[in-house]
Amino acid sequence: MITTELSNIGDIIQNQRQFFETGKTKNVTFRIEQLKNLKQAIIEHEQAIVEALKADLHKPELETYLTEIGVVKEIDYAIKHLNTWTKPKKAAVSFDFFSYSAKIYPEPLGVVLIIGPWNYPFQLIISPLVGAIAAGNCAIIKPSEIASHTSDVIAKIIAKHFDPAYIAVVEGGVEASEKLLAEKFDHIFFTGGTAIGKIIMAAAAKYLTPVTLELGGKSPCIVDSDINLEYTVRRITWGKFINAGQTCIAPDYLLVNQKIKQDLIDGLRKCLKEFYGDNPISSPDYARIISQKHFDRLVNFLKDGEVIIGGENQPSERYIAPTVIDNVSLKDSVMQEEIFGPILPIIEYTDIAEAIALINSRPKPLALYLFSQNKNLQKRVLQETSSGGVCINDTVMQVGVSSLPFGGVGDSGIGNYHGKASFDTFSHNKSVLQNSFWLDLKWRYAPYEGKLPLIKKLLG
Ligand code: NAD
Repeated sequence: MITTELSNIGDIIQNQRQFFETGKTKNVTFRIEQLKNLKQAIIEHEQAIVEALKADLHKPELETYLTEIGVVKEIDYAIKHLNTWTKPKKAAVSFDFFSYSAKIYPEPLGVVLIIGPWNYPFQLIISPLVGAIAAGNCAIIKPSEIASHTSDVIAKIIAKHFDPAYIAVVEGGVEASEKLLAEKFDHIFFTGGTAIGKIIMAAAAKYLTPVTLELGGKSPCIVDSDINLEYTVRRITWGKFINAGQTCIAPDYLLVNQKIKQDLIDGLRKCLKEFYGDNPISSPDYARIISQKHFDRLVNFLKDGEVIIGGENQPSERYIAPTVIDNVSLKDSVMQEEIFGPILPIIEYTDIAEAIALINSRPKPLALYLFSQNKNLQKRVLQETSSGGVCINDTVMQVGVSSLPFGGVGDSGIGNYHGKASFDTFSHNKSVLQNSFWLDLKWRYAPYEGKLPLIKKLLG
């Protein structure tokens, strides 16, 4: 483990401020070189990343490539578009500003802090870092201490490939976070739970530091009867049980039209067998719960409702079988807290209005899923609910589209990123208005006598 003495945090920030002031990071060629450097570093350490995720989460290699190392796609996207993003954009001016020109200049913020969670511990640090580099910032990153092997790998890769005066890693848990948060940054990008998000925002408020909060919550998945059942079942099973359900945008619970409920349950049972065999504990394709504490929290949920699929667990392996629960009450803890594990409660509805009312009675979710081919129903759900994002007839895939900003709303977060949105998050849009010297009309200057009718006309 590469340890950063927490007492050195002030020095690291000071060095980064000096580096930023050299203006090096404002050069677009420098940024592109650093993005290529980051991509190269990831490719060079692919095997170490796979092993770290195997050690932390028993993450299958394919999932690591798809959801962690796959972050290199974000790097390619940023490299491809950076010249366009960094160009000043012309802004329109109205007729009364005819002698002026207006432009918007994106400029870097300075030294930014990125704090990550443990569930996609590599991707959720590197993806915001891509935005920070693309926008021309220096960055300090703090991976989650809970995914300790991945945290180590990130620290090693970054120390080997980047000057700490430009990009540095601080490893550690709450103490490290607190030390970092006591300092002034130009932006804080946090991914984690809503409760800690509030702590981050309170700490940032001290310095008026802007924040991006990528938080969690209970993402509902509505299943109407007008669907292709086979595809629906497969897409829900994948989105829910990938990474053993420890995905911020996993469908948290199902809201199922009662006409299709039994078929859906039968389908889920069959599909789980197809994916993970009769005994998922022996499947190489099924992850484990990150820690004993998280395992205990999840096992407690198994007391709620009636387990109709799965339910088996093995504490020594931190294994919980893919589980489906029926007959839950909305007051059960499984329906009160974000589940963040391989447990899927099913709630039935007879009229879509009930499903919409339930969603709207709760904090705004990070993701909302709807399975339906009915265009009117799609329109209605989009119009009558609010969520960070929506994916229709699939799950989780929205996170992979770089042109779609990714983020929450209300309790599920503030701000967004991915693709251009990452660049914008780590940039300040500086408005620049320019006048010329070829004319200077006197309508706004004192003495004002006789000028009011003209002003009224201009405003009218
Ligand atoms: P967490 O909030 O417990 O921890 C996140 C980070 O905050 C870690 O680096 C941790 O060390 C740090 N931290 C913990 N306590 C702190 C404190 N008191 N002060 C300052 N920093 C502190 O989250 P987690 O358990 O790592 O991740 C799970 C949560 O993250 C879930 O709610 C999930 O939905 C959410 N999440 C959201 C997204 C997203 O993109 N919106 C992605 C992944 C996870």
